[in-house]
Amino acid sequence: MAISNGKIRSVANIVDATRTLEGAGFVVNRPFPSQGLALFDPFLLLDEMGPVELGPGEAKGAPDHPHRGFETVTYMIAGKMEHRDSHGNAGRLGPGDVQWMTAGAGVVHSEMPAADFERQGGRMHGFQLWVNLPRRDKMIRPHYQEIPAAGIPTAASADGKAAVRVIAGEAMGVKAVINTRTPIIYLHWTLKPGTRIVQPAPADYNAFAYAFGGEGRFGRDEKAAVERQMVMFAGDGDAVSIAAPQSAREPLETLLIAGLPLHEPVVRYGPFVMNTREEIIKAFEDYREGRMGEIAPA
Ligand code: FE
Repeated sequence: MAISNGKIRSVANIVDATRTLEGAGFVVNRPFPSQGLALFDPFLLLDEMGPVELGPGEAKGAPDHPHRGFETVTYMIAGKMEHRDSHGNAGRLGPGDVQWMTAGAGVVHSEMPAADFERQGGRMHGFQLWVNLPRRDKMIRPHYQEIPAAGIPTAASADGKAAVRVIAGEAMGVKAVINTRTPIIYLHWTLKPGTRIVQPAPADYNAFAYAFGGEGRFGRDEKAAVERQMVMFAGDGDAVSIAAPQSAREPLETLLIAGLPLHEPVVRYGPFVMNTREEIIKAFEDYREGRMGEIAPA
């Protein structure tokens, strides 16, 4: 069990994800952005893809589209995706794999179900988080960190009841292998019933949990939340607590994500997130003129 002498944060709000269609028509559960919550600085979006059981030929993806000014982080739980981009990068993502793509000045990419997965069908489940880039980094050269499941550091409590996959930041004394442009914590916790963890999260970081299995008790007041709910922590402490109640029938699965807010103006339009309207117009022009490149035929 993680020990912290810090003050445990309370919960400011709990919001339900909205079910929507993305890309060529795949189901996502999206806690934000929404009408009530435009962003959670420095985070711009969280999509839970599925979970969904797909029949042969049913899997859909997101064909060629651009990004500029932020990062997309894809974390697969089940299923297989394939990506290609305008800089000649290509790869596959399977269960447990993480792709941290820094779009920076711009990429055009496709995110599609892997051909064999598409043919056979099966369970698709994963996450995509959008992390804003600070003004100074928006036009940097695009960059990938692709970590296979086996390369993601993990830790577990001595009794084995709390386990964590450390995608960014640090937990239970284990550090992530992914580097972030601004300080970010991205953890996947699995807590068996009757387990509670305390995770340091500096008071100036915005922090939230997103549950995707079982039920949990969050923060100082042990607020209850279940799958498809986002728990926003208040900034009134430097640690968060997460527990799976003894009465739960299955382990709690939850993401815990936190980051130092940028406090910069955000102007977003679809796949472009910049600081000013002029920069958005420029992004459209650059995309239209082919300055973000295009994906070479396979
Ligand atoms: Fe994309």
